[in-house]
Order: sequence, then C-alpha cells, then structure tokens
Amino acid sequence: MDLFDKLKLLSDAAKYDVACTSSGVDRKAQKGQIGSAVSCGICHSFAGDGRCISLLKVLMTNACIYDCKYCVNRRSNDTPRAGFTPRELAELTIQFYRRNYIEGLFLSSGVQKNPDYTCEQMIEALRLLREEYHFAGYIHAKAIPGADDKLLQQLGMLADRMSVNIELPSQQSLKLLAPDKSKQSIFTPMGFIRNQLRENASDLVKYHHAPKFAPAGQSTQMIIGATPDTDYQILNLTEGLYQKYKLKRVFYSAYLPVNESALLPPIGTKPPLLREHRLYQADWLLRFYGFKAKELLDEQHQSFHPYLDPKCNWALNHLDLFPVEVNKASYETLLRVPGIGVKGAKKIITARRTTSLTFQDLKRLGVVLKRAQYFLLCKGKMMEGVKVSEDMVLRSMMSDSAKSLYYQYQMPQSMEQLSFFEQPKLTQEDVQKCLTGQL
Ligand code: SF4
Repeated sequence: MDLFDKLKLLSDAAKYDVACTSSGVDRKAQKGQIGSAVSCGICHSFAGDGRCISLLKVLMTNACIYDCKYCVNRRSNDTPRAGFTPRELAELTIQFYRRNYIEGLFLSSGVQKNPDYTCEQMIEALRLLREEYHFAGYIHAKAIPGADDKLLQQLGMLADRMSVNIELPSQQSLKLLAPDKSKQSIFTPMGFIRNQLRENASDLVKYHHAPKFAPAGQSTQMIIGATPDTDYQILNLTEGLYQKYKLKRVFYSAYLPVNESALLPPIGTKPPLLREHRLYQADWLLRFYGFKAKELLDEQHQSFHPYLDPKCNWALNHLDLFPVEVNKASYETLLRVPGIGVKGAKKIITARRTTSLTFQDLKRLGVVLKRAQYFLLCKGKMMEGVKVSEDMVLRSMMSDSAKSLYYQYQMPQSMEQLSFFEQPKLTQEDVQKCLTGQL
C-alpha cells in the first residue's frame, strides 16, 4: 500500500477521536527549529458529519488486537489494515507542516501486538519528529492503556498533551462492549500521567530549564449514546475525573453506529448530537461557572432538558434566588444569571467600582438582557416594562429552533401558556430526531 493510501485509511479511521482542541501551549519559534505552538490552538477543521478534526489526525495503525464492539478498527471487522512506520509518519508530518497544511499532530493508534510495542512505535515517530526534524509544533498523543509506565513517561516528554480514552461511562458498559479493557486499565495510566505532571511542575519550579512533561496536560474522551448510561451518570463521572485526575478537558463523542451488534444502536441511528451539545454546556458550567454536577441533574432528573440549556434550566428551577441586585451580587452569583457569562461578570465587577450600573450599562457591557432581564435588579428596580410570567421567561430562555419545536410538538392544539413545571413531552432523543427530520 502506498503512503497516500495509508494516509487516507488511517486518517479516516482516526475521525472517531474527538479530542481536537486548542493546544494550550505557547512556544515561540527558535533558531534551528521548525514550527511553534500558540495557546490559542492548533488548526481546526470540521468534517462533513460536523465533527471537529485537526488537520493531521491520524492513527499509527488501524490493526488492533482488541475487539471493542463499537469500534470500526476492532479485530473482528473485515476491513483493510495499514500502519505507518515511525519514519513515514514523521516524514509525512514534517512535509505537511512545511507546506503549511497543519500546525500540529494528533496521534492515536490501534493496539498492535501489545500495548508496549504500540507505544514504542509512537515514541519513535515522535522522537524522530522532535530530535531529527526539530519539529517544535503541537503534538497530542494518545496513551495506550496497559503500556509500561516508563514508555508513558517517554511519550509524555515528547508530546504536548496526552490523553487516555475512558471510552464508556461505566465499568458495566466497558465489560459489555470493550471486554479487553477495564476501569482499572484506564485509570492507572491517567493516575500515572497526573503524578508525572505534578512532579514535573515542582521540578520546573526548582530547575527552570527542566524538560517538560506533557505541558498541555491530559484529557479524555467518552462515547455518548452507545450504552444506556444517563447524562446524570456521565456528568458525575466527568466531575470526578476533573477533580481526581486534574484533566484539562473531557470530550464527548456522540456515538455513530458503525458495527452491527444487538448491544448497540442499529446502523443508521443518528448520533445524539443534542445530548453531546448539552454535555459540553454542562461541562463548561462545571469548569468555569462554579456549578456542581448534583446541582444540574439528580436521581429524579437524569437527562438534560431538551429545550433549555442547563444553566437556564437551573435558574428556572431556582427562581426563589432571583432577582439579584447587579450592583451588589457576588461574582459567583452573577455567573449564575442567564445571559451573563464569565467575561460579562468580570466586566460588571470592574465597572461597578466606579459607578452604579443601569440596564443600559449592562447592555453596553455585553450582557444578554433578553435573558438576564428577568433575574436582575439595577438600583433596586427591574428593567422597565418587564413582566415576569412563566410564559414570557420560558420563551426568552429558549433558542429559536427549540421554540419552534416546542410549538410544533409540545402544544400543537392550543395556545396554552408555557410552564416551567410542565414535563417535556419530547425527550432529548425526540428533539434530536426533529432536528434531523426523522420525526
Ligand atoms: S482498543 Fe481502540 S482501536 Fe482497538 S478496538 Fe478498542 S477502541 Fe478500537
């Protein structure tokens, strides 16, 4: 197989990995080296199916000794196999970089022979890139669960970011769909990388020029919709991962069926993109807005609201905490107001040091008053003309597409008023079907 065919096959096989993101690393170009990395991110692109892909996202090989039921590369699939040699991959990357096609490399792999062998191949490719070709661009490498700690350590010294895919949200799902993997085999390398990052951080304090271990940290990826795990379970797991393993990001990948199996959604089922979207919104709230998973979902409400984003849904369920006085509310409280983001809350805190803010000022500061007006007071007063009714508030919290779905499916017969407490008749999956024209 020639190099171009290999590239076609192995970049296509890598499209199910969704951990494309900003690089998080700033590294200026240096004399004698090629490339640089900026923290605003490596080049992104979007594939036809809407997934975010980096411009050179590729597998070392798509041959795999494991048989994960959801994976296109599993050993029982009758599919063409290929693999790069480390030299081929390094050469390809540097050629693409020189032509300005890419700004970095995202390298993953099937497990060839055994985890150690696979990891050695990846290390050799990255070593050639870094040491022989002096490539200083961004590299994200997938750690292979089960590989020796020493190999993971070497990989981390060559890559900017490492990730270990958690794949499925529960041990039960792993046992069912990925029998060669276990929670333990995934959490052990995650813990090792976390410890290495900590040690490296303290080394860097003492020795400014100490080599850096995965300076952009570690991340993971979870498949959504292949198993019955609920949003509640997924969000709790996510929170635990951020706390325990200090992950930079958890990525969610809406499952796109590629294999026939009685344990999986049938081929042709649309990926649950709305669910994926809600999880990213909630993830954002955990990382930047000070929310806890248990505030957003609980045992009784295990799925996100199909029409409302998680922050609006939380606010509507806690109306007793609002309205808040914008000139006095703490930063943490402001962050919980629909229509105020991190930037907006910071601007408000700064601006009110010198003046008492009005709704006009808030508008100038970028606050989305269409949403925020129901939750704020300025100098003790609500915005002029604002009438607080369930119907009005709910309408302004919904996006236009959610509103049209609501009218079409939730209350097609009458012009009855919207209610916070009405149970959605459509589930997230139904809304997803509406959006993709299946309902
Ligand atoms: S180990 Fe990775 S590549 Fe191999 S079958 Fe499982 S998911 Fe696919």
